[in-house]
Amino acid sequence: MTAVAEPDLKHELRALDAAHFLHPFTDHAALAAKGVRVITRAEGIWIWDADGHRILDGMSGLWCVNAGYGRRELAEAAYHQMRTLPFYNTFFQTTTEPPVRLARRLTELAPPVDGRRFTHVFFTSSGSEANDTHVRLVRRYWDLMGQPQRKVIISRWNAYHGSTVAAASLGGMRAMHEQGDLPIPGIVHIEQPYYWQHRQPGETPEAFGVRAARWLEEKILEVGPDKVAAFIAEPVQGAGGVIIPPSTYWPEVQRIVERYGILLISDEVICAFGRLGHWFAYERFGIKPDLVTFAKAVTSGYVPLGGVLVGERVARVLVEGGEFTHGYTYSGHPVACAVALANLDLMQRERLPERVRDDTGPYLAERFATLADHPLVGVAESCGMVAGLILTRDKATLEPFPEDWEVGLLCRQHCFDTGVVMRAVGARMIIAPPLVMTRADIDVMIDLIRRALDATWADLQRQGRV
Ligand SMILES: *Cc1c(COP(=O)(O)O)cnc(C)c1O
Repeated sequence: MTAVAEPDLKHELRALDAAHFLHPFTDHAALAAKGVRVITRAEGIWIWDADGHRILDGMSGLWCVNAGYGRRELAEAAYHQMRTLPFYNTFFQTTTEPPVRLARRLTELAPPVDGRRFTHVFFTSSGSEANDTHVRLVRRYWDLMGQPQRKVIISRWNAYHGSTVAAASLGGMRAMHEQGDLPIPGIVHIEQPYYWQHRQPGETPEAFGVRAARWLEEKILEVGPDKVAAFIAEPVQGAGGVIIPPSTYWPEVQRIVERYGILLISDEVICAFGRLGHWFAYERFGIKPDLVTFAKAVTSGYVPLGGVLVGERVARVLVEGGEFTHGYTYSGHPVACAVALANLDLMQRERLPERVRDDTGPYLAERFATLADHPLVGVAESCGMVAGLILTRDKATLEPFPEDWEVGLLCRQHCFDTGVVMRAVGARMIIAPPLVMTRADIDVMIDLIRRALDATWADLQRQGRV
């Protein structure tokens, strides 16, 4: 398709946007000074802006368009469902076909842990709502178990679990906590397993992984083991900057949660649906969660849908426990669930999780690692189809650039200008590209990233900063 610039549309939308649109996670003064970027269409792994520029979407929208853009099957599934039954609720002893089929499908896709299956699904419209659901669900579980004093949920600093009051509290983003008196009571945090930040001199990643997991045990003992309801964590932290834990971390966490009998919640809003080369990431790390959060790629982002996968241990108690007074108008929305079913069909047909595990994931790892020879880059690491690199002044110590230099934002801008979307998280530049990428696409992406790094480096040299 040819690139068509739409300057009039851009100017009109920019003016209207500035006048009326309160954006999520946006500094509006900075945005007004620069003018918002208008995206007009997308196909495959590419997006187009209103200037007609074609940009490789290295972030899959916002970690969600795993099947790529322009998938006809997904649009048709939505259309047919809207014609048949656009909405009906699932409260008050009623159901519709798509959420039933999807609940069944998800419980089949999720492998059992220690012979225990995930038997039930609670649907929401987002990851935040799903994590809110956990807060109520685990407390309800412990009430029904006759241990109502178990209320505390342990999470991690720099985790991202969403943006509602409870989800932002579960998250460990200090900038979010500072606005609105968060976290709410009953949620406490431990340090993240980020080797490059917390390693001690001479410490191996494996030794660090065990030490980091023990922070959980220390916190449990500090709070009181009989007061802890659950531990929640992302298998690989996404929005925190693609923080990949050492291989020893999760097995030790697993030992600890079992020792104290607390529930384990795996927030797989990013990591599930092939992102790390498996349908669910707990498989990859040998985690045995009681509850799993999903959202984003369950529909490849085409329509909003999220939910909670509930394992036998909790489901049995909830099902026998009478009414759980919790639900959303759109819990089990038929159109969202129909699109999810079509998306899972597509991912199964194209074997996307297997492709990531056996082919494109290892290839990305190999190619992404080559970026570590760039003068700006300290570490370049990946896991499945997420990857992150550290921008540094000193490749030996990984010393970051002074924060007010805003090197990450400069690099992000060069990425856009070069034609690839990367996200900047502090000193880390990260990607999570669509899973439909081929090896040739990966080559193109790595090339674009290298050119953006070169342009950033040239700027810093011109400014006398390196
Ligand atoms: C995006 C995200 C959420 C929040 O999902 P929303 O749909 O934005 O509410 C929760 N957890 C993780 C790990 C996420 O990446």
